[in-house]
Amino acid sequence: MRIILLGPAGSGKGTQGELIERHYGFPRISTGDLLRLEVQKGSELGKMVAEVMKSGRLVADELVTRVVRDRINAPDCRAGYVLDGYPRTLNQALLLEKIEGDRPETVLEIQISEEAVMERLAGRRVCPGCAAVYNINNDKVITDGRCPACGAGLVARNDDRPEVIRERFRIYRETIGPLLEHYSRKQVLFQVDGRRAVEEVFGSIRLILDNRIARSQGESRRP
Ligand SMILES: [Zn+2]
Repeated sequence: MRIILLGPAGSGKGTQGELIERHYGFPRISTGDLLRLEVQKGSELGKMVAEVMKSGRLVADELVTRVVRDRINAPDCRAGYVLDGYPRTLNQALLLEKIEGDRPETVLEIQISEEAVMERLAGRRVCPGCAAVYNINNDKVITDGRCPACGAGLVARNDDRPEVIRERFRIYRETIGPLLEHYSRKQVLFQVDGRRAVEEVFGSIRLILDNRIARSQGESRRP
C-alpha cells in the first residue's frame, strides 16, 4: 500500500505519518529529509539538489522523483510506505505513477482551516538549547517561557510568523486543487478532519487504512 499524506504545514501530517509508521510498520518518507540527506551524502544527485536549493528555486519534479524512486525501491518499502511532502504537484503524481503504477494507493488529505493553522503555529515554540518543540497553548508544563527539559528561553520559529504561515497556506491552496481532483477521480482520496486531537485524527486514519489494506489484500496477493 502506498499512502500519500496531503495537508498544509501545521495540519499535523508529519505526526500522523509517524503514527502510521509505528502502527503499520510502513516507513514514513519525508521528501524534505530525503533531499537534505542526499546533499549531506554528497552524492551526484545531492550535488544537483544542492545547486538548485542554493539558487532558491524549487527542486524540479524529475529530480525529486528520482530521489523518491531510489527510496521506495529499498527493501523496507516492499509492504508499503508513507509519503509526506510528495507528490506536491499533479506532474509529480503522474511521474510517481509511471515508476510504480500498479501499487494500491490511499491518499489522506488532512483538512484544516487557515485560522486553525494560524492558532496552532502561533503557539509553537522551539528550544535553542535542546531543539525540543512545544506549544504554549497545549503544553501546561511551560509556565515561564523556559524549556522544561533544559531551562533555555523558548523562541518562535522564523517560519511561524503569521505572514509566512499565510503565504505558505496560500501556495498550498493554489497547488493542491489539481492533485485532489486527480486522486478523487481515481477514487483513492479520503478526507480527515485535522482540527481534532492527534489521537482522534489517527483513529479516523486507522479506520480508513484497515479497510483499504483489507480490500487490497482481497483483490490481489500484493500488499
Ligand atoms: Zn531545551
